Amino acid sequence: MTSVPGMAEWAPLLKHRGPDATSPVMDDYRRAAAGFSWDAVGAELGVVPGGALNIAGAALDRPAAATPGKLALRFVDGAFATQDFTFDELRRAANRFANALTQLESGPGATVTTLLGRCPELFFTAFGALKCGAVFSPLFSAFGPEPIRSRLELSGSSVLVTTARFYARKVAPIRAQLPSLRHVFVVRDDVTAPLPPGTLDFAAVMGSMPDEFNTAPTLPDDDALLHFTSGTTGKPKGVVHAHRAVIAHYATAKLALDLHADDIYWCTADPGWVTGVSYGMIAPLACGVTTLVDREELDVERWYTLLEQQRVSVWYTAPTALRMLMKAGLEPVRAHRYPSLRFIASVGEPLNPEAVMWGMEAFGRPVHDTWWQTETGAIMIANFAAEPVYPGSMGLSFPGVEVALALRRPDGTVELLTEPDRIGEIVLRPGWPSMFKTYLHNEQRYLESFAGGWYFSGDQAKRDARGYYWFIGRTDDIIKSAGHLISPFEVECALNQHPAVMQSAVIGIPDPVVSQVVKAIVELKPGIDASPELRRDLIAHGRRLLGAAIAPRDIDFTPALPRTRSGKIMRRLLRARTLGLPEGDLSTLESGT
Ligand code: ATP
Ligand code: MG
Repeated sequence: MTSVPGMAEWAPLLKHRGPDATSPVMDDYRRAAAGFSWDAVGAELGVVPGGALNIAGAALDRPAAATPGKLALRFVDGAFATQDFTFDELRRAANRFANALTQLESGPGATVTTLLGRCPELFFTAFGALKCGAVFSPLFSAFGPEPIRSRLELSGSSVLVTTARFYARKVAPIRAQLPSLRHVFVVRDDVTAPLPPGTLDFAAVMGSMPDEFNTAPTLPDDDALLHFTSGTTGKPKGVVHAHRAVIAHYATAKLALDLHADDIYWCTADPGWVTGVSYGMIAPLACGVTTLVDREELDVERWYTLLEQQRVSVWYTAPTALRMLMKAGLEPVRAHRYPSLRFIASVGEPLNPEAVMWGMEAFGRPVHDTWWQTETGAIMIANFAAEPVYPGSMGLSFPGVEVALALRRPDGTVELLTEPDRIGEIVLRPGWPSMFKTYLHNEQRYLESFAGGWYFSGDQAKRDARGYYWFIGRTDDIIKSAGHLISPFEVECALNQHPAVMQSAVIGIPDPVVSQVVKAIVELKPGIDASPELRRDLIAHGRRLLGAAIAPRDIDFTPALPRTRSGKIMRRLLRARTLGLPEGDLSTLESGT
C-alpha cells in the first residue's frame, strides 16, 4: 500500500496569542490529554458513580439552577426580529411539555419525533421528551412524505410535533399508514385557521400545563436520542444514543469548540441532523452558553449581518456552507466587521485547505476542521484552539478518545498501523460516552462495525508524525488503481485549486487493466463555460499536481453535484449514474442535484 503523493504542502497556521486574547479552555493539548478522565467530566456535570443521568437534567436543569436569568437562546427571524429565552424560561417550557407527555402516557419507552424548523417549540419538545425519559428523534423538515413515513415506521414513534403547514402537506397523507403514531401536536402558523382533525394544539396544551416537573432519574445507559444518518453511502441508518452522551457533548464543546461561559455561539447545522442536536442544542446549553438560532436558511449577506450584529464569538458550520460564502467572494464579507469572532469550526465533509485559508483572509482566523459521525455522537478528531492548524488536516484525536488507523483483513483480524503516513480506516476504542448503542432494528450491522475491540468508522485517513489526521475518503469511495490507493479528497483538492473550478467529485471507474481509473465530475465557477479546451486544461492541471498515475483520466462537467440534504457529495450516486447502475436510496438527495 502506498501513501498518496500530491497533497499540497501548506505551512502550519500558528495561533496569535496577544495579551488581550481569550486564553483557550485547553491551553496545552498534550498535558490535557495525559490527565483526561471521562469520570472527572461526568463529575463536573454532577454525575455520581452508579447514579442517574438525564441529558435534560445536565444540559438544562443544571445551568438553569446556576444562572436562571442568563440568556440561553436567541432566535432571529427573517426580519431580524429576535425572541429570547433565559435558561429558566427554557426549563419551565420544557417542563410544561414533559407534563403534557406524562399525561399522555408517553414518557419512558416512547419515542417523540419532531418535524420542525429551528423554532422554540423544537427545544421545548426535545428537552421535555428527555425530561420524562422518552427518546427524542428529530427529522429533517425538508423531507417529503415518504422519507418521513419510513423513518416514523422504523422508529415506532408515538408522538410527533410538527407545524400546521407540514402536517397538511407531509403528515396527513401518510398518517393512516402509521398505527403507532398516537398523538400529533401541531404548532399553528395561523391561529385563525382551524386545527386539523386528530391533532393537538401545541400552544394550547403547553398553556394548560404546570411549569414544574421532576426530571426522570434515567440511567446513563438508557436510550435518549435517535438520529438518522445522512444516507451518503446508502440507506440511512437509525442510530441510538444514551443519556451518557451529554458528557461527551459537554467536554467536546469546551475543549474542541473552546466554549467559554461568556460566548455567543452559533451552530448553523439543521436540527434534523446529529450536529444540529449535539452542538446546536445540547452542548452549548450544557456549557451554560448563549446560543444564537437563525430561523432562516443560508444567505450570504444575512449570515455576515448575523455574525456582526449578534456579536457571535464561536461559530460552528460546514464546508458546504463555507463554499457558498467563498463563492460570493471577499467583498460581502469585508462589508462587515467581526471583532467578537474568536473561533470558527467546521464538520461534515472534508475541509479543503483553501477553505481554511479563506477563513484567514475573510476573518483573520483559520477554520478548525473537526471529524465525527452520527455513530460517534460527538467530536472525535479536532483542530484545537491552542494547537497549530495544518490546512487540509482534520486535527488531533480528542483527549480521552483512543483513535487509531487499522486494516481489517477478510479473515476478521485487524492490523493497527503505527508508523506515520500509512492509510487505514479510522478506528475508535469503545468507551467514550457518546458512542452509539446500536443501529435501530439492525443489531447485526452494529456488531459488524466492530472487530478486534475497535469500532470501524468506514472512513480512511492517514496520520502524520505529529499525530495529525488527514482525511483520505470513505472506504466505499477510495479508488484502487494499478496497485495505488487513491484518495478522492486529494484529487478533488488539486482540481479545486484550478481557477475555473468551484468544486469537484472524484470517483473510480472499473477498468480491466488497472482495476479502476480516476474520473472527475466538475462544477465550474459562475460565468465559466465548459469546453473541450477547459477539459484538456484541467486534465493537464491534474497531471502537473498529482502525477499521471493519480490524475483524472476523464472529466465531466455538471451544473450541480448531487448532494445529500445535509450538504455531502453523493459519490455513490455519481458512480451509479456514470455506470448506469441502480441509484439506490435517494431519500436524502437534495432536490435539483
Ligand atoms: P451514511 O452513514 O448514511 O452514509 P453519513 O456517513 O454522511 O451518511 P453522517 O453521520 O451525518 O452520515 O456523516 C458522518 C460522515 O461525514 C463521516 O463518516 C465522514 O465520512 C464525513 N465527515 C464528517 N466530518 C468530516 C471531516 N471533518 N472531514 C471529512 N469527512 C467528514
Ligand atoms: Mg456514515
